[in-house]
Amino acid sequence: MAGLMKYIKNGDKKKLMQELGERVENCKRCELWKTRNKPLVGDGDIDAKIVVVGESPGYNEDLQGKAFVGESGKVLNHLLGLAGLQRNDLYITNVLKCHPPRNHSPSRKETDACIHFLHEQIGIIEPKTILTLGKFASREIFKMFGMEFSRIGELHGQVFMTGKYAEKMKIIPMYHPAVACYREEMLPVLERDFSAVKGEL
Ligand code: SF4
Repeated sequence: MAGLMKYIKNGDKKKLMQELGERVENCKRCELWKTRNKPLVGDGDIDAKIVVVGESPGYNEDLQGKAFVGESGKVLNHLLGLAGLQRNDLYITNVLKCHPPRNHSPSRKETDACIHFLHEQIGIIEPKTILTLGKFASREIFKMFGMEFSRIGELHGQVFMTGKYAEKMKIIPMYHPAVACYREEMLPVLERDFSAVKGEL
């Protein structure tokens, strides 16, 4: 991390992110490279104060190489609006950079192979806040920062502070927007959580 900070202080964030993107494009550290169409490194502003982390690219994201397109993307845009945010205020990425076939839950092996890319991205961007979407991303980010994760049903919408890096960051776990696509009754819960954190962002 200290090495990264040297480049960041030299104003070379863009170069670091480009190099990281090239490594993701060529990555074969787990089997998912064999079935992906386009790996998704991340979308948005590398100077953003807020990083949003999901689980992995879905079917449409894999085809387009873009984050949160399709129905869950529409829900996310709606929720971000309630929090006073737009897409261009953020950097959006996932724990896994390649689409798992049939949307299988990422295995421990796949996660361990990929998570260092996310670690580097957070080191380059140095956000003030990380919004995690869903149980999987929330658990992995809590683990990254040495924090104990219980259940998304218990932690959603709450603000946690971490002091692992030079400056403190807020970690805010949320339900995944996709849940509102197949469980309508979850939309008001998500809407309440995103509206409530408006003042924190
Ligand atoms: S999911 Fe991650 S580790 Fe696996 S091939 Fe893609 S970029 Fe590499």
